[in-house]
Parts: sequence; C-alpha cells; structure tokens
Amino acid sequence: MTNDNRDHRPPGFETLAIHAGASPDEKTGARNVPIYQTTAYVFDDADHAASLFNLQTFGYIYTRLTNPTVSALEEKVAALENGRGAVACSSGHAAQMLAMFVLMDPGDNFVASRNLYGGSITQFSHTFKKFDWHCNFVDPGDPENFRAAIDERTKAIFLEVLANPGGIIVDLEPIAEVANEAGIPLIVDNTMATPYLCRPFDWGADLSIHSMTKFLGGHGTSMGGVVVESGKFDWAQNDKFPALTQPDPAYHGLTFYETFGDFGFSTKAKAVALRDLGPALAPQNAFNILTGIESLPVRMDRHLQNAQAVAEFLEGHPAVAWVSYAGLKSSPYHELAKKYLPRGPGSVFTFGVKGGYEAGVKVVESVELLSHLANLGDTRSLIIHPASTTHRQLTEEQQVASGAGPDVIRISVGLETIDDILADLDQALGYAMQKAAE
Ligand SMILES: *Cc1c(COP(=O)(O)O)cnc(C)c1O
Repeated sequence: MTNDNRDHRPPGFETLAIHAGASPDEKTGARNVPIYQTTAYVFDDADHAASLFNLQTFGYIYTRLTNPTVSALEEKVAALENGRGAVACSSGHAAQMLAMFVLMDPGDNFVASRNLYGGSITQFSHTFKKFDWHCNFVDPGDPENFRAAIDERTKAIFLEVLANPGGIIVDLEPIAEVANEAGIPLIVDNTMATPYLCRPFDWGADLSIHSMTKFLGGHGTSMGGVVVESGKFDWAQNDKFPALTQPDPAYHGLTFYETFGDFGFSTKAKAVALRDLGPALAPQNAFNILTGIESLPVRMDRHLQNAQAVAEFLEGHPAVAWVSYAGLKSSPYHELAKKYLPRGPGSVFTFGVKGGYEAGVKVVESVELLSHLANLGDTRSLIIHPASTTHRQLTEEQQVASGAGPDVIRISVGLETIDDILADLDQALGYAMQKAAE
C-alpha cells in the first residue's frame, strides 16, 4: 500500500541544511553523521578492491580520496547549492587549486574579478604562475571587461558575487552569458554569500567554491573548502577540457565526462586532483562543519540583522568617512543586492575611518569585544585593517583596486547582543578620533 498523504514538495532550505546527506547510520542507527576517524577501509576481496581502484564501484579506499563523514558533507553542500556533485578538501584555497587543476594546462589562463579575497589574488597572481597558469584580473563592474580579456587559452571566469572586502556586488547574469558564449565555465567563490543568500547556479554559474572555514562552519573552529558542480556544463562542447573529455592514462583510459556525466568534474577532482595533490579534509573538521551548516539559515538571519544595524550606526558616526554595505540605500550596489541577495548582502563589509592608515590601526587596536584577527564568518564579531594585514602583500595600487586602501576597516558582524557590538565600536572610534586630535 502506498501512502497518498505524503508531501511531495521539494524540501525547503532549512530542511536540507539539517537533513541533506545525513540519513541515520545504517549499521548502528546513529542519528548524527559519525566521525569516521579512519585512514583506510577493509576490502571485501580482491575483486572488490580492483573495482574500487578502477572507479567501477562506489566505496571507500583511503581517506585522502574519500571518507564517509566527508562524503556526507559533500552531499549536503551540493544539495544546498542545487548542484550535482561536490569535492570537499582542507581549505578554501585548496578548493581553488583543485578546481583549476582539472581545468588548466600549462600555458592556459583564466579571467578573474579583481575584487577578490586578498589571499586569492596572491594565489592566482604568484603561486599559480609556477604551474604556468595565468590570471588576468579585470574590473567586474562591466561584464564586457571579462569578454575582452578572453583568448583561445582561457579556461574559466572566476569571481565573488558578494566580494570581499569591499561589499561589492557583481552582476552575475550577464557575466555568466559571456562565459557561456565562450564555452568556458563561470566559477563563483560563494563564501561570503553562502547558498542561503545566493545560489550562483540559478544565475548561470557552473561551479561554486566555498571556504567552509567561514559561514558554513560558522564557529571559527575548522578549516575546509569545497567545489560544487552544477552538472549542467557541457565539457565536450569544445576541445578546451581534455582532462574531462580525453582518456585518462592514470585510470586505464577512463574518460571522466563520458563515464560520470553530470558529476564528472567532481569525480575527476577527487580521483586525480585530490588523490595526487593531497589536501584531504580531516573527518573531525567535516563533522564540525556539518554541525555548523545545520544552523546556517538562523545564524545568517541574525548576522544580517546585526550587520544592518552596525552599518546604519557607522554611517551616522562622526569618525567614519564612508560605509560600503549594500544593505544601505546609499550603496551603489543596493539594487544588485536586492536581485542577487534578496535576504540581505551578508555581514562582512568595509568602512573608512577619518584619519587614514593611522586611525585604522588605532581602531583595531582599541576594540575589546570585537576580535582583531584575520578571519570572518564566525559567531564572534571580527575586525581587521586589511592594508596592514590581509592585503599587505599587495601593492598600494592593488590594495585600492581591491577595496583595501589605507583607511579601510573590514568588519565581520557576529551574533553578540547588538548593543554590545555598537558600544564597543563607539568607544574604539572615539578613542581613535581623540588620538588623532592630540
Ligand atoms: C577565506 C576565504 C578564502 C580562502 O579560504 P581558506 O579556507 O582560508 O583557505 C577564499 N575566498 C574567500 C572569499 C574567503 O573568505
């Protein structure tokens, strides 16, 4: 007998955040995903081992490749992004590395927004060069800038919709169109927005990347990264992606896109890039991040509410020169934010203090409740002066271009009582002003 009373609507985001990828353990009934703290897995017999190594059977061999706790996390994030497959790894930077490793050959290039996380700019402009991979940075304000930078060796477009640190919103849809016309994937670093605020695949992106270290984990305890694929990109439409469309000699001539179809990219990223480069995610960290994601929607709602209050407070403060938060009507990105991030534009943004570099340093040195450190997306409110820290490797021109000029302070508004956050900022700003006047 079938039960006709069952509800067949697709589950909502909050339900997915809790249940996707996390069914009870088959052997023990454990309701939460166990931490499979093991490096290896016993084979049934030699044939089973052979079929696992040939990727003919789904299963576990060695935790550098796959681990059940990590797999549960991959499934959860893929579901939240409305994607088809995912590969989790040890950090956001490792995720960027794995994605590019599948796409690029020596001599290839990709086009990236110049408004990126400072570490990504450094990774793309210096470290990737050692692989003979090249990145052309463009101003993301005009989609045509991306088109103009594409040549026959371009393998991807990379951007952040909600860009760190400037509070900038990038117009995703027309840029996805440029990538589509060029036959290359659009990769979105969705760390700042999280899939609760923006789902890049709904706007035509093909891969999304997260530093799970930030809002997904949400508690500042665990590093992690993930690459998610939409499953909609046709890797065989041209000859740009031989890693997916040509037989792989390291797997007896297996062709990943032909064999695994809409999760061919993530399978290749695991079976080759993760296996050979090695940045596996620790099962304990996967567990911590899984637990964090369960409360992502309620945390993000409060992050947004507090961020809006802090932005409005700063906008009216005499020590503050400007505030760049797309939730403010004064922001040039307010309309784009309503389109791409209808719930709100996150809780990380920048503001400028009167008095430049010196005043910026004074503010971050005088906060008490807020923590002066290089992270974001924690339950705690965090503050940093990018020009003297995260963006100090960049030239002053690069700093200004990426929204990290000398007077800029970045804040990641946490979940503390709002009056306490405002009071701490008020005393720190007041002290900096007083020092500047001395
Ligand atoms: C933190 C961050 C990264 C890098 O992630 P890690 O986990 O620190 O390696 C990449 N992109 C953005 C937007 C980030 O905030």
